[in-house]
Amino acid sequence: MDMSKIDKSKYTPMMQQYLEIKKDYADAIVFFRLGDFYEMFFEDAFLASKVLEIALTGRDAGQEERVPMCGIPFHAYAAYAEKLIKAGYKVAIVEQVEDVSEAKGIVKRDVVKILTPGTIVEAFLNEKENNYIVSIDNNKNKFIISYLDVSTGDSYLTTFMSEETLIQELLNLKCREVVVKPTFNKNIIKSLQNKYQILVSIEEKTELTENFISLASEIDDEYLSCLAILFNYTEKTQKHELIHLKKVVYYNASDYLKIDSFTKRNLELNETLRQGNKNGSLLWYLDKCQTAMGSRMLNKWIDKPLISLVEINNRLDFVDVLNNSYLVRQEIKEALKTVYDLERILGRISLSNANAKDLVQLRKTLSNVPNIKAQIANLKLNQALELSDAINPHNELYELLLNSLVENPPLVIKEGQMIKEGFNKELDDVKNISQNSKDWIINYELSERERTGIKTLKVGYNRVFGYYIEITKGQISLIKDEFGYDRKQTIANAERFITPELKKYEQIVINAKDKIEKLEYELFIEIRNEVSKYVKSLQILANHLSVVDCYIAFSEVSVNNHFIRPIFNQKNEVNIIDGRHPVIEDILKEKFVVNDVVINKYNMMLITGPNMSGKSTYMRMLAIIIVMAQIGCFVPAKIANLVIFDQIFTRIGASDDLISGQSTFMVEMMEANYALLNATKNSLILFDEIGRGTATFDGMALAQAILEYVHERIGCITLFSTHYHELVGLEQTLKHLKNVHVAAVETKNGVQFLHKVLDGPTDKSYGINVASLAGLPKSVIERSKQILNVLEEENKNAKNIKLDLFNFEAYENKEENIEAKLLAELKEDIKRIDMNSISPIDAFKILIELQEKIK
Ligand code: ADP
Ligand code: MG
Repeated sequence: MDMSKIDKSKYTPMMQQYLEIKKDYADAIVFFRLGDFYEMFFEDAFLASKVLEIALTGRDAGQEERVPMCGIPFHAYAAYAEKLIKAGYKVAIVEQVEDVSEAKGIVKRDVVKILTPGTIVEAFLNEKENNYIVSIDNNKNKFIISYLDVSTGDSYLTTFMSEETLIQELLNLKCREVVVKPTFNKNIIKSLQNKYQILVSIEEKTELTENFISLASEIDDEYLSCLAILFNYTEKTQKHELIHLKKVVYYNASDYLKIDSFTKRNLELNETLRQGNKNGSLLWYLDKCQTAMGSRMLNKWIDKPLISLVEINNRLDFVDVLNNSYLVRQEIKEALKTVYDLERILGRISLSNANAKDLVQLRKTLSNVPNIKAQIANLKLNQALELSDAINPHNELYELLLNSLVENPPLVIKEGQMIKEGFNKELDDVKNISQNSKDWIINYELSERERTGIKTLKVGYNRVFGYYIEITKGQISLIKDEFGYDRKQTIANAERFITPELKKYEQIVINAKDKIEKLEYELFIEIRNEVSKYVKSLQILANHLSVVDCYIAFSEVSVNNHFIRPIFNQKNEVNIIDGRHPVIEDILKEKFVVNDVVINKYNMMLITGPNMSGKSTYMRMLAIIIVMAQIGCFVPAKIANLVIFDQIFTRIGASDDLISGQSTFMVEMMEANYALLNATKNSLILFDEIGRGTATFDGMALAQAILEYVHERIGCITLFSTHYHELVGLEQTLKHLKNVHVAAVETKNGVQFLHKVLDGPTDKSYGINVASLAGLPKSVIERSKQILNVLEEENKNAKNIKLDLFNFEAYENKEENIEAKLLAELKEDIKRIDMNSISPIDAFKILIELQEKIK
């Protein structure tokens, strides 16, 4: 139904009000507050009832046909809103905005907040991750993006030259919502929505308003409108001034080690390849942070490893001294355990959402700061002294919070029980009066028992009648007129009475309660406003504490796992001795086989070895060690002499890429192409069985061509794994390429993988051995061994013809090579068998075919 065509006048006043609001929020699902429910109507009701799996009903609204409606209880809105937002929708919350008693006619309602995937700050946010709202703008030949985490106030701006790199960054940021100007490229919008399931919101106000200008002091004028749409849109969703935003940080993507999203996924930097879990990723492995702020900082560090030797060494220096200061480490770790999520508390304070519990958490956090500051000053390192000096314990603020708030206040701020005794005289006086009256009432029970002689007389309280005197049925006859009891209520086995005196004190208690709640609320708001003056300097403190938390985590991991400090050379050489893949080692424990990576005058390594021997693991190990070193952590090896890389590319052969069902050979080639176009001589390329997704000859030819290109045109450190062991001959023509292989031995029980990487090419593919490991019937295995032997014998006798697999023409023209050609074909046929997927029956059929061919 087209909402704009609805004739509003035909509906009830309430529905008219709804339609009036809805017309400004066409792109959001409107939660319309009616009593204890949020109701949704019309299209919203259809959609929400489906997504939320709740009943679709109807409501009479002045028309013959009922209006479609569905509703949710207001107190449980968060779970429903979360579901809608996760599904990529926005939710506009409509509340009453005037007191019912003051309303003339229908109570005024309005949108008080818009929840969107990029801007929500509600409690259901994953605390260990940042949630960004991203704006994109397009300027001459480049893309500008800026992004903001509303819950913490962090914002960034950078530029990209191509749509491709822009998308890469959006995926990196796990962006779920972008804001663009109305004129933004429609094709890109479509692709964001359809291909990447990103919600695209439009913002028309492109002027940066006064209150945001100071945040953008380091930003070039030409980028300001990109920031403007970001801030203006966000402010609109929060319906509140954003005072906690930090200065926008401008960065250049080339200031960091660039890792595209395929590579990030393949290396499992922040989630695993198969399940997409954090568990099992490098982030998970390193995240020994005590605070959520620390975890988020670590996530950012892994996202953007450094390329400045000085900055890397600064972090390593810190980790180094911590490694040697066990006690300091323990003290700080202990203190960090009660450091709360300061960044998000500050966000809530600024948005006026903070309750007394938040302020108590702030207080507990501050109580740890002096100790952390002192411990850091103990470290023998200039940098640590500077950091300690920069840590401001906010003593005054701490005193204020200490004196004003009780230990365990409630979540709501309108029901008192937040403010400590001694903080405010007026409040204490009212509380005294209230207490005295309560005491009087308690005593009244005793004195009335005495006065009336009724031993079972009780004073009680309920919401409807207030305080009353209760007398059991059996004792009723003892009541005399002179008592002055006024009967109010009869219950099963008692009667309830009131007296003027009781009512007098009750009134005092009730009045006092109202007064106390009002006073406490006012005092709390005053305290919160006071705290909000410290937001900027508390944010700096939060940042320092996050950094400390990350250093402690690095140090813990490094000490517990015997990591060493990496050093860096300028000669483009790598020398890793006894390297380990930390995460896989964590699973395999002592079964993990250590490996060296030695790269000097040969900067390309061709790694051959059977399936499952450890090629991929070896390549990933190198990349992980590099990432760890460039984020400033110690690394799992005995020696690690590295170079600083500017980018890492990993491409993984299509059939190994299990996660994305769409992983066709085409995707593999596009990704390889991306690496070839973007790599520099300071990059690292890891090509894992590239060319595997196509027919053997194609695949080999492509693999060789790619290797040659990298060798001639790029010249960067490259590891290339392949199961085409025909490629090992390239060593002769490509002078920077050397062969290594992953060793395996044959035992009488079949092949055994040693997982050890050794110099030189592999001599066998062990396909049959792997097949036997996979459980193929013995007869098939035996038969294929026989065939292989025959083939190998014949091959030897065939005048040592070297099969030049890349020179098809020369090869096909020679008559004497017919025999060799047949052999080559047979060899190919056998190789083409995918031992991982073939059924025993098919294997048998193939053997028959092979036999036919030889005949
Ligand atoms: P490939 O890429 O050669 O097929 P992978 O690198 O995927 O082999 O490794 C296959 C399995 O071998 C891994 O899952 C792991 O269990 C084991 N593995 C690999 N490298 C090692 C190693 N260095 N030490 C011990 N086990 C290893
Ligand atoms: Mg592999």
